[in-house]
Amino acid sequence: MSAESAVTVLGLGPMGRALAGAFVAAGVRTTVWNRTQGRDTELVGRGALPAASAAEAVAASDLTVVCVVDYDASDAVLRREDVAAALKGRTVANLSADTPTRARDAAAWAADQGIRYLDGAIMTPTSTIGTPHGVFIYSGPKDLYGEHQPVLAALGGAHTHLGEDFGRAAAYDVALLDIFWTTMAGCAHALAVARAEGVGPAELAPFAKGIGAILPEAIEGMAAGVAAEDYSGETNPITSSASSMKHIIATSESHGIDAGVMRAAAGQAQRVIGLGYGTDGFVRLTELVAGRLNRAAG
Ligand code: NDP
Repeated sequence: MSAESAVTVLGLGPMGRALAGAFVAAGVRTTVWNRTQGRDTELVGRGALPAASAAEAVAASDLTVVCVVDYDASDAVLRREDVAAALKGRTVANLSADTPTRARDAAAWAADQGIRYLDGAIMTPTSTIGTPHGVFIYSGPKDLYGEHQPVLAALGGAHTHLGEDFGRAAAYDVALLDIFWTTMAGCAHALAVARAEGVGPAELAPFAKGIGAILPEAIEGMAAGVAAEDYSGETNPITSSASSMKHIIATSESHGIDAGVMRAAAGQAQRVIGLGYGTDGFVRLTELVAGRLNRAAG
């Protein structure tokens, strides 16, 4: 890392602290600020530079990385008059999570203020930051990304610029977290149902991981099917999936465990079947949820 490399990190929650810590460890001059004081103690002990205000913090570096809970929070920090004035001509990389619309709105505001802007998202937990396992995605002007990439690379891991549409990184983020949170809801539910049947978490876990291991191939197959508009269910028709879901609901509710998430998925599968697509694969659900599935002919 060159001697002049510098970055400011706004937001010192668990992720902001991980980012700032990785920059410090990589030898980048790192200025930090957080709304609530006192979150920087450990970082300052390791060499980060504390700032008395957000405006002072952003004035210290050409690149400011923002990582707060959402864009209401990043707006509350960035849109202060003194902060916006200090950012003029400098770059903000907003790595907070929110929707594509909020990302585009933040970029439009930044352009109005003469602030150079990149949007982004982090797809891996704090423990991966500063290691080869972190995943960072960005959208916005490619040249601007290229300019700051050497400093961002200090965070370790894989960094991908996804395109110039400012909302694109958030679009990936939302879609990927859709998979993550529905899976996590399934895991929480599965652990509860298994325990109600006398199967302990540690007993289930190795088998649960085996289910996780099936997902990469299932994702690839589903994506290929959607891309090719091939919804065939020759080896696994949706009638079979719906039947399996019924067993989960019945077992769960027999123990008084809420089966709301599974009921929602099973309801969608039943609607696909009801519209005449019972021999298709589960992939047909993508058409149903998009509102594109009409009753099958014949
Ligand atoms: P949080 O999502 O809880 O964010 C906490 C940070 O947001 C703190 O710095 C907090 O400041 C700040 N904040 C909240 N509201 C405001 C506000 N109105 N004005 C100013 N600052 C505000 O924790 P994380 O640090 O974990 O997450 C930060 C971002 O990173 C989120 O968008 C999250 O989705 C994303 N992310 C997190 C991952 C993780 O593993 N933690 C993984 C991938 C992405 P204060 O201390 O003053 O409350």
